[in-house]
Amino acid sequence: MGEPACRACHKRTGQLVLDLGEQPASDYFPRSDDPGPDPVYPLQMWLCASCGLAQLVTDPTVPEEPKGTEPAALVAQAADAVERVALAGLLPDGGRVAEYGSPHGGSWLALLAQRGLTPVSKGQPADVIVDCFGMMHCADQSVALAERVSRLTPGGVLLLQYHSLGTIIRHGQWNALRHGHYAYYSTTALADMLGANGFRPRTAWQFQLYGGTVLLAATPETDTRTWPEGPVQSLLADDAKVGVRDPDVLDGLQRKVQAHARGLRDWLEAQRSAGRTVLGYGAASRAVALLCQAGVDRALLPEVVDASPAKHGLRMPGTDVPIADPAQIAARQPDAVLLFVPDLLEEVRAAYPEVEAAGGRWVDAETLAP
Ligand SMILES: [Zn+2]
Repeated sequence: MGEPACRACHKRTGQLVLDLGEQPASDYFPRSDDPGPDPVYPLQMWLCASCGLAQLVTDPTVPEEPKGTEPAALVAQAADAVERVALAGLLPDGGRVAEYGSPHGGSWLALLAQRGLTPVSKGQPADVIVDCFGMMHCADQSVALAERVSRLTPGGVLLLQYHSLGTIIRHGQWNALRHGHYAYYSTTALADMLGANGFRPRTAWQFQLYGGTVLLAATPETDTRTWPEGPVQSLLADDAKVGVRDPDVLDGLQRKVQAHARGLRDWLEAQRSAGRTVLGYGAASRAVALLCQAGVDRALLPEVVDASPAKHGLRMPGTDVPIADPAQIAARQPDAVLLFVPDLLEEVRAAYPEVEAAGGRWVDAETLAP
């Protein structure tokens, strides 16, 4: 196979930077009595040398992941983001808004309605276009961005929110790579994509969500409004410092995979040897990749608890580990609960005080630290 064509600029020069081998689709959750084997597909990230977009190479067609419950951290971040955009004067009262949401949920429309914005129907022009983790789910990035900018009215603003590639690199989040997520944006690459559409990033806000999430505001190059210079410049400078366009830097993610998977396996084996009970929490896509790479089965991790009833009775793809109701936490009194979604820590500690009350602890699956 030759080089793939870039999903944004269509050029074919680039490099494979992360290869997780054959992986089950992370949104294919089989019933727990389905013995498998689950279908597997190559899971690879490619970095375009031309526009700098990090992207998924091939993607299987798979069923939609059962809708999860919305983490409190995500809800709080949405409110924070809308507040900050409003303070910047970018949410005109009586304006029209179009939202491109994520298939995993998390709409901002109710928050925007409270600010006096009215949603328009599909394809209609809008004064505010919001894309919150939406565009990453589009296989054709150039078509997706062209559609969004084409709907913006003069004087309007395009708001794009993404888990930044700089964050993924800095925190070694190799398991952010998953089927169905086609693009892993740096601000640098996104600025290039916007430029190809006659748009420019104007200002930005950063959030702690997922270790580092960016909300970027963009408008046409013809826009003569004055914008603060700092935020976008500092994001681009951070990108340059991290090296988001450097294949050798991204290769660091590949080295992290083995170390992380081995670390998890060793830790689980040590817990078992010591006779300690461990449960998982959060049947998220990043947990799928980690458990598969580490070769974890139910002998090491008897259950992954998840708050979403739609996932109960299913199992983690590529393993025999079942997904269970949170009631199992009280029933099993685990010595440790391995948390696959670190953003949930505050929320789960409050929701399941019985873990710590019984002498157990929450352990971050990314760092294996309490
Ligand atoms: Zn490209």
